[in-house]
Amino acid sequence: MRRTRTLAGIGIATVALFALTACNSSDTAGGGLDFEVATDVSLDGSPTFDAMVERGGPIIGVKEDQPNLGYLDATTGERSGFDIEIARWIAASLGFEEGDITYEPIASANREQALVNGDIDYYVGTYSITDSRKEQINFAGPYFVTGQGFLVSSDSEMTEVNDVSDFNGMTVCSATGSTPIQNIKDNYPEINTQEYDIYSQCVEDLLSGKVDAVTTDAAILIGYAAQNPDELKVLDGLFTEERYGVGVPKGDTVLQEHINTLFTEGGDTWQEIFDATLGQSGIQVDQPAVDPVE
Ligand code: GLU
Repeated sequence: MRRTRTLAGIGIATVALFALTACNSSDTAGGGLDFEVATDVSLDGSPTFDAMVERGGPIIGVKEDQPNLGYLDATTGERSGFDIEIARWIAASLGFEEGDITYEPIASANREQALVNGDIDYYVGTYSITDSRKEQINFAGPYFVTGQGFLVSSDSEMTEVNDVSDFNGMTVCSATGSTPIQNIKDNYPEINTQEYDIYSQCVEDLLSGKVDAVTTDAAILIGYAAQNPDELKVLDGLFTEERYGVGVPKGDTVLQEHINTLFTEGGDTWQEIFDATLGQSGIQVDQPAVDPVE
């Protein structure tokens, strides 16, 4: 055990690293994990599923600059991370293999619109369930819970955040359209903000000293700190509750229910996905119960 932090009801503890078993059997939907591809799937009353079948595969909105969550290795072309494996698990449950999937990188600010436009069938990418987003789309899940944290330079004297206002007078960077930037802008007017479409841009600014901190979900920040262990650190202190859902088109409660059932009746699969991805960074989080379809 190296250290334990328990805040906002979420226990974060370092745990032993898990071995990742790669599997590439032909009937797998996953690049890293082995998901059984369902056969004879029918989702009566889901226009989104009908479109996927007609097309021959799903178009899934994802992130690709978030290590351990949604990441694209530019050299190998491989996608990896907790959200990617969740996306593949869903695809397999709908009867699609890895080769049938089209991944579409969509930034935080553009997620609802991509679903409203029908550009993607579903979205899996650190997507917090919020009431205002629910006006435009439906969410399956939640499948993960985290909270807002802060990433700073290792040189910083700060070790923890007691209150977000600890950053008053400083410049904090986050992604446009995200819940953390909204929280700062709504509630902490004395904090200066810098926004980009993607968090990796904020991390670059932090590394070059242009901003004092990057704020977003702790689960995301841990991945960036692990990429730059000598330069960056995540501060203790977790704010807000971010419940990750799978975005589906508004009104497609059949698809929403299908994904909820998968999460609820999926046995050990959630844990296996977590252990092979986010769990590698040392955090320990339990699978949350899903929200009932409204
Ligand atoms: N979970 C937060 C949100 O959905 C922050 C992470 C993100 O931007 O994807 O806005």
